[in-house]
Amino acid sequence: MEAPLTAACPRCSAKARLDAQNPWRPFCSERCKLIDLGNWLEGRYTLPAEEAPAPVSDSNKH
Ligand SMILES: [Zn+2]
Repeated sequence: MEAPLTAACPRCSAKARLDAQNPWRPFCSERCKLIDLGNWLEGRYTLPAEEAPAPVSDSNKH
């Protein structure tokens, strides 16, 4: 009995193989991987930049 290691695709929850036969793991398909990557690049998954210029007064200017 072969039971390939699988997990739910992070994008669509479809069963995705996690072995070498699935180049898009942990996603189920290239489409899901690209969608997820696109979201990541859009900053949806990134934390707000703490180094962003803030309108607060800074008395430690050089
Ligand atoms: Zn998927």
